[in-house]
Amino acid sequence: MQKNNQPLTILPPQTIGIIGGGQLGRMMSIAAKYMGYQVIVLDPTPNCPTAQVADGQIIAKYDDMEAIRELSDKSDVVTYEFENVDLSAATYIEEQGKLPQGAYALEVTQNREKEKMVMKKLELPVPAFEIVHNGEECRKALESFSLPAVIKTCQGGYDGKGQLKIESVDDVEEAVDFAENAGVTCIIEEWVSFDKEISVIFSRSQSGEIAFFPISENEHLDHILYKTMVPAGVSDSLALKARNAARELAEEIGIVGTFAIEMFVKDDDIYLNEMAPRPHNSGHYSIEACNVSQFASHIRTVCGLAVPKIEQLQPAVMVNVLGNEVDKVVRTMLDTPEAFVHLYGKAEVKEKRKMGHVTFLAEDEQTVNDLANDYERR
Ligand code: AMP
Repeated sequence: MQKNNQPLTILPPQTIGIIGGGQLGRMMSIAAKYMGYQVIVLDPTPNCPTAQVADGQIIAKYDDMEAIRELSDKSDVVTYEFENVDLSAATYIEEQGKLPQGAYALEVTQNREKEKMVMKKLELPVPAFEIVHNGEECRKALESFSLPAVIKTCQGGYDGKGQLKIESVDDVEEAVDFAENAGVTCIIEEWVSFDKEISVIFSRSQSGEIAFFPISENEHLDHILYKTMVPAGVSDSLALKARNAARELAEEIGIVGTFAIEMFVKDDDIYLNEMAPRPHNSGHYSIEACNVSQFASHIRTVCGLAVPKIEQLQPAVMVNVLGNEVDKVVRTMLDTPEAFVHLYGKAEVKEKRKMGHVTFLAEDEQTVNDLANDYERR
């Protein structure tokens, strides 16, 4: 819903503007083009992954206000592929009546302190935490904080960047330095010895209807998502708890579009970790495994179309293709028909960079896990 409470309806061949031209923008654009929309992307890198599958690109930094105005003028609706969108840019587009997701969802999700405050307000379960503004406050907090713990910057971190695990008192000085030199507020969190990590992903329409994707189970390596398995192997009661928490957050923040919440599971309890106001890496499996993907339902909901009922067609395992694993995944395409490979068209290979992903599908969970394990051993 727009600020003036008028739902925005965008139909093909109207134009969708996307801020950010990485793989998430690319997969959004592919979904939008499939439906007949025009797509224009704003990104500083010429021929970025999204530009390769869009109708046009504005080559500029994400916070370049002139470029933001141009994007808004040329688009009928604007969305984004990451949460670190400049807030004044988002507010400007919202004021033009072209940002149904709203600037508030960005404000909350780009700051771990604000995320936790909203969760606490709703009395949702989160790991014990404390906010610190400098080294001294960090030292003081750690005097009584049970270890292990983790300290994270409240803004700007992703894929494990901007966080430090505090295993024991031996790491306290390093944590104090981290907080002192971070340049932003930090959060210290209890380290949850979870049984598994899950994602709850859903799409919410402008009028507030929610469609949930199946809950996925995630494995991280060095803080980067490595593998997602669906179904997640959680009880019905835990799934209900997780979805209810997501629904409360969605209503409180006024979410529109596809949204992801990462949670830890321990015994039969959930602990909310972080949120993303956009399609998420742990939802890529939905492209082949569901009747509608997280990208297609994102486009539908930001464009004011009815929210689709989501069904999983087959069990799936998604594995990220990082750095120099491209050759391996390409070879897999030759002999593994159950492997659905996506490469993002990134010009430069860097260690741990997300270059693509592969989704395995099979009739049953055992077979799909075997396929993924065979691939990992290659
Ligand atoms: P984040 O950037 O907060 O999503 O953290 C990246 C990954 O680090 C998570 O997916 C977890 O695997 C791990 N992690 C972060 N915070 C915690 C925590 N409080 N307890 C246990 N593991 C955590």
